[in-house]
Amino acid sequence: MHKIIVAGAGHGGLTAAVTLAKKGWDVTVFEASAREAMGHDWHDTMMPAAFDFCGIARPKLFTPYVKARHTTPAKTVVLKTDPAPVKNVAYIDRRDLIRYLLSVAEESGVKLCFETEALSPLCENGRVTGLRLHNKDKTWDEPADLVIDAAGMDSPVRRNLPESLGILKEIPAEQTYFVWRGYFNAVPGGRRPEHSYNICFFHTGAPGLDWLIDRPPYADILVGGIGGGDLDEAAVEAAVADFRADYSFVGTELLRGGGGIKKIPLRRTLGLFVADGYAAVGDSAAMTEPMSGSGVTLSMKAGKILAETLLSGGGDPFSAGNLWRYQYDYQKTLGENYLKDDLIKGMLQMLTPDDMDYLFQNRVLTAKEMLKDKAPVDLDYIKGKAAIFGRPALLGSLTRTAKRLAKKSAVCAAMPRVYDPNAVKAWAHRYEAL
Ligand SMILES: Cc1cc2nc3c(=O)[nH]c(=O)nc-3n(C[C@H](O)[C@H](O)[C@H](O)COP(=O)(O)OP(=O)(O)OC[C@H]3O[C@@H](n4cnc5c(N)ncnc54)[C@H](O)[C@@H]3O)c2cc1C
Repeated sequence: MHKIIVAGAGHGGLTAAVTLAKKGWDVTVFEASAREAMGHDWHDTMMPAAFDFCGIARPKLFTPYVKARHTTPAKTVVLKTDPAPVKNVAYIDRRDLIRYLLSVAEESGVKLCFETEALSPLCENGRVTGLRLHNKDKTWDEPADLVIDAAGMDSPVRRNLPESLGILKEIPAEQTYFVWRGYFNAVPGGRRPEHSYNICFFHTGAPGLDWLIDRPPYADILVGGIGGGDLDEAAVEAAVADFRADYSFVGTELLRGGGGIKKIPLRRTLGLFVADGYAAVGDSAAMTEPMSGSGVTLSMKAGKILAETLLSGGGDPFSAGNLWRYQYDYQKTLGENYLKDDLIKGMLQMLTPDDMDYLFQNRVLTAKEMLKDKAPVDLDYIKGKAAIFGRPALLGSLTRTAKRLAKKSAVCAAMPRVYDPNAVKAWAHRYEAL
């Protein structure tokens, strides 16, 4: 029988494991954390329909989500939003979510090994043949037909793959969102924001965005920076203090979350994430929405696509050639949709707080663009926004982005459908360079 091992109980790895185990495959997940320590201690958004896509019963754990209001750096412009709950997105407690996926995995026949760390891949002649594992008592080599890498963005499996495979090892800091998240007590009678979910760009002057969510009985604060250089404890305290100064309902007692700065890949999906005996899924392949960092829905769907590819494969199901079909399908059905956002994010990252205020004050960017009802930054759009001609540097940056967007379709169309190692590496290079 085929033997599949999964590094890390990430969402995509668990979804792939469930789908394969239900068909009688031998699947074992090795997770570094203790079971009771799994999952973030806060609520995040995802699409409940991801469960239907993955053939897993929807848990009754969702609560409604409303879109954010955006505030500009100088706090002079507030982009209002529809206060009605969004239909296809909902909040879920991350601890409940992972507990649910773990229980489904066990019921499906997946073997779960906690407190067991994947140290590195085992490789023979360019093929991944298993994992070197460590738990408190021992270190050993676990052979497998396929290693599914679901160990997150800093996966030591991906980082220790041979160079010759051409898979990106390190996700650069400028493509990483460094975030702190915590729930403070809500002070009764304190001043609350008018809208529940409030995003501030360049909050306290730092690049990135912070949020304040009025989430009774908590004040939910996220402090986030791209590049990460300046995000330390003092910066987090300053951002929290600024929210507290504006909204006195933000208490001083940290009730949930905290626990240091976390990382999210904020970029397009990797140009190459499969090899003989290896497939990455979720954050380890940078499967997040580049504007928001949301990755749960995409990871789960990717896990399902990977499993279906394996179940349908003839010949050697674990060859790079077969696993490329997984990457191709993921890219065509999901990944490509976010390439535009990644290019626009790259442009927004170059803006100063002053630029951003200018764009919003002069209505070059409005609530429409922020809420994605209209795609900004195509050349016709720029021509229609006279205000931008008063800022030549901004005009140059927008035009360069528009040109890169124009090249996007050609790069997507050139993705090889059938695996050829040289053609795939050349395409991945072109895709990464876009
Ligand atoms: C503050 C914050 C807010 C977020 N908000 C949202 C949101 O609203 N919506 C959304 O969709 N996403 C959100 N995300 C992103 C989301 O958490 C990830 O995209 C999502 O978890 C998918 O990642 P994953 O399952 O691949 O990896 P992870 O969630 O990183 O899971 C990887 C697993 O592998 C384990 N592991 C790591 N290294 C090893 C090792 N060497 N050996 C064995 N196990 C290992 C880890 O313990 C972990 O259990 C947020 C992230 C953060 C930090």
